Amino acid sequence: MPEPKPNPKPSLRVLIAAPRGFCAGVDRAIQIVELALERFGAPVYVRHEIVHNRFVVERLKGMGAIFVDELDEVPDDRPVVFSAHGVPKAVPAEAQGRGLTYVDATCPLVSKVHRQAERLIEEGRHILFIGHAGHPEVIGTFGQVPAGSMTLVETVEDAEAVEVPPSNLAFLTQTTLSVDDTAAVVGALKARFPEIRAPRSEDICYATSNRQAAVKAIAPECERLLVIGAPNSSNSLRLAEVAERMGVSSRLIERAADIDWDWLGQPSTIGLTAGASAPELLVREVFDALRERFDVTEEIADHTPERMTFKLPRELVT
Ligand code: SF4
Repeated sequence: MPEPKPNPKPSLRVLIAAPRGFCAGVDRAIQIVELALERFGAPVYVRHEIVHNRFVVERLKGMGAIFVDELDEVPDDRPVVFSAHGVPKAVPAEAQGRGLTYVDATCPLVSKVHRQAERLIEEGRHILFIGHAGHPEVIGTFGQVPAGSMTLVETVEDAEAVEVPPSNLAFLTQTTLSVDDTAAVVGALKARFPEIRAPRSEDICYATSNRQAAVKAIAPECERLLVIGAPNSSNSLRLAEVAERMGVSSRLIERAADIDWDWLGQPSTIGLTAGASAPELLVREVFDALRERFDVTEEIADHTPERMTFKLPRELVT
C-alpha cells in the first residue's frame, strides 16, 4: 500500500513591517554597556533595564552586567550605566557625590526633550507633559525641572480638565507615544490654551513614528498582527494599538513561545513587526515558528528607510 501523504501545511503570507526593531537609541545603549564591560571589566552595574527587553537584558547579564533599581545598590568601586530612557538630574548628581564612574546611555532624543524642558522653565513657563504615568522616561523628564513646574497629561480628558496657570504654558511629549493619540491630546490643549507653546520639532521620535507608519501601511492587508516587544515597552504597545484601531486583531509577544495559535487560526496574511527594543533575532525566531506550521511566503514591506545613528560617549571610544 502506498504511504499516506502528509497533510500539506496551510499557506501563509507574512508581511514583515520595515522599519521594525532596534532604533539608533537602543543600539547605542546596548553598545555602551558592551563597551563599558570591555573598558572596565565585569561587573558593570546598570541602573534599570538598559532597554525594555528581557532577552537583551539577559544577554548583557551573561556578559557581566548587573541590573539594579537604584544607585545605593552599586558599590563605590564599580562603574554604572544609566538606561536609554533617561534619569532625573538627582541620579548623576548622587553618582558624582559618591565619586562613582558613570556612563549615561540616555537616548540623545530623550536628552533633547530634557534640554527643551529646562529652557522652557528658564523662560518662566509651566509645562504640560504628554506621557504615560510611571514610565521611566516620564520620571526622568520630570526630574529635569523643579517640582510643580510640570504637569502630566495622559489623555484628551486630562487635557480638558487639567488645572494650570492660564498663561505662559508650553507642552512637550514623551518620545514613544501614539502619533494619533498625541495629536488628539495636543488638539485639546490648543483648543483650551490657544497661546500654548509647542515644541520646535516633534518630540515623538523618528523610530516611534516610522514603526507606527509601517504598521499602518501593512494593516489593511493583514488578518492578524504579531508585535514582538516587552509588555512594558511603550513603543511596542503602541504598535499593537495602531493595528487594533485599524480593525486588525493584534498580540504583543515577547518570543515565539508566546504565540497563541488558537487566536492566530489559519489566516491567509498576517503582519509581523517588532518594537524599538526587540532584537531582529526574535523576529527570525517567530518567523521560524510560523514556518513549522505553515507554508510561509515572506514579504518585507519597506516603508521608510532609516539611517539614523548616534555618537557613543567620548569616554568609551577614546
Ligand atoms: S525609541 Fe526613540 S527615543 Fe527611544 S531610544 Fe529609540 S530613538 Fe531614542
